[in-house]
Amino acid sequence: MSEMLKHAKKNGYAVGAFNIVNYLTAEAVIKASEEMRSPLIIQTSTSTVKQFGIKPLIDMLKPMAQTSKVPVAIHLDHCTDIEMVYKCIDAGWSSVMIDASKESFEDNMKKTLDVVKYASSKDVSVEGELGAIVGVEDEIHVKEKDSMLADPVKSVQYVKETGIHAFAPAIGTAHGLYKGEPKIDFDRFKLIADTCGCPLVIHGGTGLAKDVFKKLIMLGAAKINISTAIKIAYCRGMGEYSAEHADENNPLKLDRFVLGKVKDAAVEHIKTFGAEGRI
Ligand SMILES: [Zn+2]
Repeated sequence: MSEMLKHAKKNGYAVGAFNIVNYLTAEAVIKASEEMRSPLIIQTSTSTVKQFGIKPLIDMLKPMAQTSKVPVAIHLDHCTDIEMVYKCIDAGWSSVMIDASKESFEDNMKKTLDVVKYASSKDVSVEGELGAIVGVEDEIHVKEKDSMLADPVKSVQYVKETGIHAFAPAIGTAHGLYKGEPKIDFDRFKLIADTCGCPLVIHGGTGLAKDVFKKLIMLGAAKINISTAIKIAYCRGMGEYSAEHADENNPLKLDRFVLGKVKDAAVEHIKTFGAEGRI
């Protein structure tokens, strides 16, 4: 993942990191990337890992990544459990996110550094987070919100001392579906991008406007996480097909339809991120 992100940062585009939940969604984002000739990061949430089990999940994803016509990284998203991070590194994930952002700055640094040391011996990339990237459902007062954003000075210290390969600073984006206009602190993001020298990650990508994506990429975002949009395409696709073909009971046709919907959602984001034709 580290190599992908360096190339993206240098060439002014971002790699789409799509959260998959099963074989179909993984196949859909791979097909989208092959069609777009773009690199791909497949992300697995800890809930997905727990539902499948570590080995069954990596045994399914690894051959898909290896036989893909484009480079595919398999990334563990937001993992707060350091033991699980180590297990996923051992099992074959090519990249992991240790999320100790809820802990004190010192503890976050220590945990992240421990993971970087372990991961580098196995050629695995590491993403870390500073500040709190919240869910849109979380009730947070404006005053609190400011204090939850990543501190630019601490960001430099965190990136330099841990040696992470990708950095997710909290800048006002949120997970889930935005109810109003998200308040993104672009100045803070620019300052962090200019001083940290590390490819930056945007969480909560679903629902951001095209010009917001473009601005963030111009300022230094190299990895953009898209989870909710994939889930919506999947669930709505299921509902739409089932409603229109209530008596068909043909899972293969249903899957093909849903795969198309998920693929379209990924293609749209890949185009917006400027990642088309990079392979
Ligand atoms: Zn996230």
